[in-house]
Amino acid sequence: MFCSPEKRLANAVSIFVITTLFYFFGASLRLIDELSLFWPLNAVLAAVFVRCPFLNRPVYYFVCYSAMVVYDAFTTNWGWQSAIINLSNMVFIIVVARLLLRYSRTQDESNWALNAFNLFYACLIGAILSSLLGSMGSTGPSSDYRQFISLFADWFSEQFSTGVLMMPFLLMAKWPQWSKLPAFHLSKIYPLVAVVVSVMASVVIGGAGSLAFPLPALIWCAIRYPLPITALITFLTGGTEIILVANSIVVIHHNVPLVVTEMFSARLGIATMAICPLIVSVSVDAINRLIQQTSLRADYDYLTGVYSRSGLYEALKTNMPTKHLPNQKLCVMLLDIDYFKRINDSYGHECGDVVLAAFAEQLRKVVGDEGLVARLGGEEFVVACSTCTEEKGLAIAEKIRQTVELTAFRYQQQTLFITVSIGLATVTPEKQTLLDAFNSLLAEADKYLYLSKRNGRNQTSTASYKELALNS
Ligand code: GH3
Ligand code: MG
Ligand code: MG
Repeated sequence: MFCSPEKRLANAVSIFVITTLFYFFGASLRLIDELSLFWPLNAVLAAVFVRCPFLNRPVYYFVCYSAMVVYDAFTTNWGWQSAIINLSNMVFIIVVARLLLRYSRTQDESNWALNAFNLFYACLIGAILSSLLGSMGSTGPSSDYRQFISLFADWFSEQFSTGVLMMPFLLMAKWPQWSKLPAFHLSKIYPLVAVVVSVMASVVIGGAGSLAFPLPALIWCAIRYPLPITALITFLTGGTEIILVANSIVVIHHNVPLVVTEMFSARLGIATMAICPLIVSVSVDAINRLIQQTSLRADYDYLTGVYSRSGLYEALKTNMPTKHLPNQKLCVMLLDIDYFKRINDSYGHECGDVVLAAFAEQLRKVVGDEGLVARLGGEEFVVACSTCTEEKGLAIAEKIRQTVELTAFRYQQQTLFITVSIGLATVTPEKQTLLDAFNSLLAEADKYLYLSKRNGRNQTSTASYKELALNS
């Protein structure tokens, strides 16, 4: 962002400029006397103070307040009332920012801004306090209480609805990374089209109920789009509805012009509706993250970082077919470290773990792009390769075996050497899927692994190699 803790002058100038800019924007939307249809300044500044917590100091609050008072001094003749009205703006900004920041301290970074409920109640408290002060300040002590109530209702509902509509987007917005944007597909804009159609339907049909028409479409957006996009669409839809109601384009009552209580009800209704897609979006986001985390845990072995058995099956179904050419062979090698139990017995289980992780790393390096590596369990690993010939598969297996034999594994001050026995099986998958071919090869590889162990370990056995070994 444009602010940083060290650049105090730049921070003050930025706050002054933003305040003036949004003050101008809000003031140009003024309908009657002091009340504006939208007053975005308070929500924008509250979001700035939340996103840059270091700005929450009296001096910056004062800069903000001064910018408002100076603007009024040049553009209105409100006199002392300006001091109170702007103080009420500051009450909203400071209360909302402080409440959200207080909550953020007890939550992890990625989560705090997303909690729509907290936003809801922070805006509610901020709006009540600020509009109480604002409406008392502008009506004065001698005024009729009905005038006060109607001003308070309008003021409060505007502050609350603008806060609830704008702040989620303001808190979550990031510059898009254009290079990472997914490819455009027409079906992706269906939820957005549904929002537009439902707003049009509310114009045609009218009545108070029509304000809820966009809700299903907004929830569809929440499921299909990322959270900040959903927040932006919800904000724009809510804002549009408020404008449509205020201008009697969506007619919710046949008394024109609209009386304050109806605008009050419409605004609160729209704000309440706006929170629903956000809650759905936050939940979808949380579920997606959970799925990602659990599939990461299920697909990879925690100790060694290579595929787990289920991860390997998934990769055989999805990744490998793209690399596997029709006439290529599928080659499966089953590896088992020799006398691994002795390492645990002599140096401890922890040492065994370190050796297992280093062994898997070696395996990954030797196999490289030529195949997939997985840990089946214990000190048993499997490598699946697509190769042109059986000899090539055998060459990879032998390279693994020799590399492991020559590698010095280190644990604390110890240097350890291990060997590995390998069973190898190869086939050209014809009508079978890679996964079926893999499963039958695994059983065959297991037999050859047993042969390698029985013949003295630290060797590779395979159908042709076994014959070679028997002939020699
Ligand atoms: P060989 O395969 O050559 O017949 O002998 P071995 O000693 O390797 O045979 P065995 O399969 O009987 O023993 C495997 C040992 O691996 C048993 C177990 O203590 C150890 N082991 C299995 N999983 C782990 C693990 O995650 N960490 C550690 N440290 N040890 C493990
Ligand atoms: Mg073993
Ligand atoms: Mg074993």
